[in-house]
Formats: sequence, structure tokens, C-alpha cells
Amino acid sequence: MTSDTTPVVELDDVHVSFTSGFGAGRRRVHAMSGVSFSVAPGETLGLVGESGSGKSTTAAVVLGLQRPDTGAVRFEGAPLARSLRSRAGRIQAVLQHPRWALDPHSTVLSCVLEPLLVHERRSSEVDDRAVAMLENVGLEASFATRRPDQLSGGQLQRVSVARALVTHPAFIVFDEAVSALDVSVQAQILNLIQDLQREHSFASLFISHDLAAVRYISHQVAVMRAGEIVELAPTGIFYDLPSHPYSRQLFQELSS
Ligand code: ADP
Ligand code: MG
Repeated sequence: MTSDTTPVVELDDVHVSFTSGFGAGRRRVHAMSGVSFSVAPGETLGLVGESGSGKSTTAAVVLGLQRPDTGAVRFEGAPLARSLRSRAGRIQAVLQHPRWALDPHSTVLSCVLEPLLVHERRSSEVDDRAVAMLENVGLEASFATRRPDQLSGGQLQRVSVARALVTHPAFIVFDEAVSALDVSVQAQILNLIQDLQREHSFASLFISHDLAAVRYISHQVAVMRAGEIVELAPTGIFYDLPSHPYSRQLFQELSS
């Protein structure tokens, strides 16, 4: 049985490597090397690091889309179920480009309904839940019949958040979820995520190369470099006094 102290997601010494290139150019990339962390219920772990440091691979491992070479991934205390179906809806994702993630030919309502229909038949009650979730992310019911190409980037990302939340997941991965948005819209979406986390108490992994966004939203911060987590600390401590030289360097590079 899980208790309140059981982490929602736990990675233990996870390694993932890829081979790329051909012939003499063939090489092995260590996308994740000995990555360990845990995320408690209702908490957000921020993951920062420059491009290519292994952040999205970590997201894929948490989502069960990438199997580790070695190491363990636990969800609510048990090995992450191999079957996508049994896990469906319990771990959700919000990615960078909602225009790619949402089917341009379907309505906003269908986009939000889709994850529910893995386990349930469509009914007016199910539709009502999806519309209620749209309202929960600040989109009035009239958005339900619109198509994704009629929405702004910020509105689309609200739809992505509604689609992630509609199954009441225990965990949500945000991979550069606000990075493509204008700064003022970013702030709105970050506020929304924070409010929804208080209301729905999901745990999350918030991936970004934006240190300010991560600071705002995260309870803990992990810094990734070349596949390794070089520093992991509570947000307040990390931003007051990053201890690893690379973290300090990242502060300088990313804030310049
Ligand atoms: P980030 O999200 O931090 O930019 P990624 O996790 O996407 O980093 O990538 C980490 C490293 O692994 C990079 O060197 C990338 O080129 C490599 N990589 C990621 N996915 C694959 C893949 N499917 N095949 C080969 N190399 C990959
Ligand atoms: Mg990435």
C-alpha cells in the first residue's frame, strides 16, 4: 500500500544511452547516467540544463516511453507498469508545441476527451467533465466546438493542460511547456499550473531551460549536465546559493 510519504515517481540510478551515426562516426551518447530522484505527492521537481543534457530523455523514461538500460523507475511505489493501458491517464504530459500535440482536425472538446475515452465510453456525463475541465483552465464552454487552429498559443496550452488533467493524474510531466509562449502568457500558464496543483494535488516534473520559470513553480530543482544530475536541492536553497560550479555557470549563461 502507498502512504502519504511514498514518492509518486522515483528514479533509481537510471542509465540510458543511444548510439548514433554510421561507420567511423558512430558513437555512444550517454543521455542519462546514474539519474536518481523522487517526487513527493503535490510537489514539483524542476529540471534545468542546457540543450542535449538529457532532460527530454528523462521525461520519456518517466512517461514509460523509454526503457532504461539499467536502473529502476517506480510509480507510486511499484515498478512502472509496462502496459500503457494500465497506466493510461495516471501519468500525463504537457509538451512544448501544442500545435503538434493536438489534432488540428478535431474540436477542442475531442482533444480534451481523448484520454478519457481510453477507459470510458463517450456519454453526456463524460462530455460535461471535459467541458468543466476547460472552464477549470480558464476557457469558457464555447471553446469546446472550436478547432485548435482557431486558438492562440496560450489558449492551446490551456487545452493541453486540460487534456492532461482531465483523467486526474497523479503525475504530470511538463517538458518545455511554456518555452514557446510570450513572457506574459508564460506567467499566466505558470500561475494556472500552480493553482491547479493546489486544487488537484498532482506531483510533477517541470522541465525548462528557463531558470526563472523553474524557480517560480518548483519545490526542488535538479540541474542536469551531460546526462548526470550534478545538483539537486530545495528551490530556496538552490537559488540562494547554488553549490555546484556548473549550476553557477548555468545561472550566468542562462541569465545573460
Ligand atoms: P534535452 O531534452 O536536455 O535537450 P535530450 O534528452 O533530448 O536532451 O537528449 C540527450 C542526448 O541524447 C542528446 O545528445 C541527444 O542527441 C541524444 N538523444 C536523445 N534521443 C535520442 C535518440 N532517440 N537517438 C539518438 N540519440 C538521442
Ligand atoms: Mg528537450
